[in-house]
Amino acid sequence: MNKNKILEKQKKYLFSCVATYYNEPLVVDHAKGNFVYDVEGKEFLDFFGGILTVSVGHCNEKVTKAIHDQTDKLQHMSTLYANEPQVQLAEKLAQITPGRLEKSFFTNSGTEANETAVLLAQIYTKCQDVITLRHSYSGRSYLALSLSAQSSWRLTPNVVPGVHHIPNAYCYRCPFGLAYPSCDLKCAKDIEEAIQTTTSQSRIAAFLAEPIQGVGGFIVPPKEYFKEIVGIVKKYGGLFICDEVQTAWGRTGGKMFGIEHWGVEPDIMTFAKGMANGVPIGATIATPEVADSMQGNTISTFGGNPVTCTAARATIEVVEEENLVENARVMGNRLREGLNALKEKYPIIGDVRGMGLMQGMELVGEKMKPDTEGTKRLMELTKTDGLLVGKGGTFGNVLRVAPPLNVNKDQIDQALKVLDQSFGQLGQ
Ligand code: PMP
Repeated sequence: MNKNKILEKQKKYLFSCVATYYNEPLVVDHAKGNFVYDVEGKEFLDFFGGILTVSVGHCNEKVTKAIHDQTDKLQHMSTLYANEPQVQLAEKLAQITPGRLEKSFFTNSGTEANETAVLLAQIYTKCQDVITLRHSYSGRSYLALSLSAQSSWRLTPNVVPGVHHIPNAYCYRCPFGLAYPSCDLKCAKDIEEAIQTTTSQSRIAAFLAEPIQGVGGFIVPPKEYFKEIVGIVKKYGGLFICDEVQTAWGRTGGKMFGIEHWGVEPDIMTFAKGMANGVPIGATIATPEVADSMQGNTISTFGGNPVTCTAARATIEVVEEENLVENARVMGNRLREGLNALKEKYPIIGDVRGMGLMQGMELVGEKMKPDTEGTKRLMELTKTDGLLVGKGGTFGNVLRVAPPLNVNKDQIDQALKVLDQSFGQLGQ
């Protein structure tokens, strides 16, 4: 099929809410390493990796071979039967995750991983209330939509009760109008009043948060934030659920998991996206006593699937063997320096933030007004010049730059060059 035919069928046969980037959607044909190719053969340097999901490059040989081999051997039996790839992956997660996290439950997506985590916390604590942050994103089920705090993604007013959203640690636009560090972490301390005023009997099942808010626009909290807020959560008997869907596998540079930068140990962690380099998977890992509190019947037919578990283990092995946690740090620094230099040159860039290979640029007009249109135009310009970047932020005005973890110097420099050209053209 040619491009027009594919787009015509997309329009006719898919839900119209399946939104695509760009005025004319990019129709991808194939990809290799850090490059993707459209149906007309045009090459693009991929600095978004299918939303931070292609961790070790497209069609990575080691991962693809492991998938092929496992597909030939055993593809599916469901969790009603035990299989080796599932326990091997679970053991690996227990070994590399921080603290006492040890037992996993596998699903197919980040949404399901978060559903599982919240249900588990509610069962363990025998309590309903959950606190999460404004500008967060947790997925698209009823519960996950209720947890998400960006109104454009919440398609229904019928939200699940018991979810409370407190202001996030968004220093560029401090919800309290304060400045770090003289703010004394008011945003973290605010959770105490939220617990005392909005929950039942001042008890909570959990506080759920991303170490760096992803869809929210790569919002990085101050370094003491998580210690402060998790300390208060514990005081009220709540569990800390850490959503590592975007920040895991070295993405933030120098550490395997985003939360390891912040010096706290989660009771539950959730994963998806980059875990299996593009093969659908979700995982929820918990401490043994929390995990074992979930009794009775529950099942995910595809959870623990031998092929997806094999893909995940192969992806994690590539991250380890090729030292990609360190590569993300070094390349992330190079990328960040380049983006900082662009900020000096182009006033539309109001803020550059992020860690490792998770860097965002918030585009603004006068008085920090979110420049949603400028962001869209910038995306078009980078596409024309053969670079794919993503976008996020509650107002759609944050460029998200997140290449695969094995990106190299030349690719970083190439992306920076295209961004420079695009910002230059934007002003014309
Ligand atoms: N949590 C976070 C932090 C996410 O970024 C996403 C997806 N953008 C999800 C959960 C939901 O994952 P999925 O789309 O796989 O359901």
